[in-house]
Amino acid sequence: MATAKAHRLYVGGQWVGDKATLDVIDKYTGETIGVVPVASRETVDRAIAAAHAAFPGWARTPAHRRFRILEKASQLLATHQDEIAAIICREAGKAWKYSVGEVARAVETFQFSAEEAKRVHGETVPMDASTAGEGRVGFYLRCPVGVVSAITPFNFPLNLVAHKVGPALAAGCAIVLKPASTTPLTAIRLAEILEEAGVPAGVFNVVVGSGGTVGEWLTTDPRVSKISFTGSPPVGESIVRKAGLKKVTMELGNNSGTIIEPDADLGAAVPRCVVSAFANSGQVCISLQRLYVHRSIAAEFTKRLVAATAKLKVGNPLDKDCDVGPMIDEAEAKRAESWIKEAVAEGATVLIGGKREGRVLQPTVLANARPEMKVMCQEAFAPLVSLYEYDTFEDAVRMVEESPYGLQAGIYTNDLRKAFHAIERINVGGVMINDTSIFRVDHMPYGGNKLSGLGREGVRFAVEEMTTIKMVMIKP
Ligand code: NAP
Repeated sequence: MATAKAHRLYVGGQWVGDKATLDVIDKYTGETIGVVPVASRETVDRAIAAAHAAFPGWARTPAHRRFRILEKASQLLATHQDEIAAIICREAGKAWKYSVGEVARAVETFQFSAEEAKRVHGETVPMDASTAGEGRVGFYLRCPVGVVSAITPFNFPLNLVAHKVGPALAAGCAIVLKPASTTPLTAIRLAEILEEAGVPAGVFNVVVGSGGTVGEWLTTDPRVSKISFTGSPPVGESIVRKAGLKKVTMELGNNSGTIIEPDADLGAAVPRCVVSAFANSGQVCISLQRLYVHRSIAAEFTKRLVAATAKLKVGNPLDKDCDVGPMIDEAEAKRAESWIKEAVAEGATVLIGGKREGRVLQPTVLANARPEMKVMCQEAFAPLVSLYEYDTFEDAVRMVEESPYGLQAGIYTNDLRKAFHAIERINVGGVMINDTSIFRVDHMPYGGNKLSGLGREGVRFAVEEMTTIKMVMIKP
């Protein structure tokens, strides 16, 4: 058997090892595909110190130079698209077509970041609007916050890292990144690309290790000015408690709902719902989990949804035509399977799927779901969608809204009055009309309300969150 490649961490512009290591496995075959050092406290300390030292120089680097470096990073990602997709595919278990799609999105995220580097600016303030301001000139500047700790999840090991690294570099911040322990190889490859693109030593650092140690040190270190976290609500909440007065952005979970009205174009809605529920084995924060279908079209919609689900190819994500690969680990697959069994015991019906083999859970459609079932009221994060038949649109909107989460929601309707009713009533960060909750492009404002988080990403909005305002008043 070939020996797995030994990787290094990227700290202060150097590739460094550490005593302890962790094995990264192919999530489908179980083969070890990489060995990565686990950062000790000293290594994390060196990384933060390097970022802290590099920050003032990077903050003063002219915008046109930051633009060029980010643009080069984008081009390098595009050049190595297939090679990086293969890393994502194996370490995250993401089907090939979605892994390639993730790299394509990260190419855009870095390109948007390059463009934003030229647009970090404040504005003038009409001081004479107050009698006390008469005769004075006022304007504010947008200044980079300093060192950013970026802590990221396993499900988009490249593009969700790009959503923190690109805007931070554009804003003039230095970064220490801690990727998920199950998927660190993509982040290490990104560090090579950023080094080649010309990011100066210390401005970008990658340390790997558990959330409870490395994540905690990155959260509590006083040299860190901002924590940008994407992950589960409980971890997000614990970080916010420990962050003190640091700025925070929290991109957390959801149990996304979508409503299908009788006037929906089922030819468009059904295939879109299938992709929205099962892409990346449902391990997407805006994955379609709760599907509210008007009773008058429920039988036809359900028949078509089940037929389309039956056509999905489940198996090795490296196969070019694979639709659904494994989940991130067996414990998570078992947890999702147990939720399905519990829902069935409480009266739900499995229309298709429900079976598990190791980490692979078959794409599952449940009917007769009720709001209090775990598959409805908690985040499933699995290839699992539950159907609820409703009678009135207002009821459906109320049920989508009655969630502790608030990331995104979808509504299929051509009735503007209904669309605006939903837009007004559902407390989420994004409402998608004639699409499902899963729609996202990387420059739109993106983030959640309630348990789904704090602040927004989407490059321009992340740049705003990585800068602080400095007001200047001049009395000539
Ligand atoms: P997770 O368990 O919360 O882990 C996310 C990251 O936090 C990992 O790097 C993890 O490290 C680290 N971490 C764990 N405990 C920590 C602690 N005490 N202090 C600091 N860091 C800590 O989430 P996940 O399972 O990887 O991802 C799934 C979740 O992310 C879902 O809830 C999903 O909805 C959410 N998500 C949200 C968005 C969004 O944009 N809103 C996007 C994608 C995913 P280890 O890997 O070492 O445990």
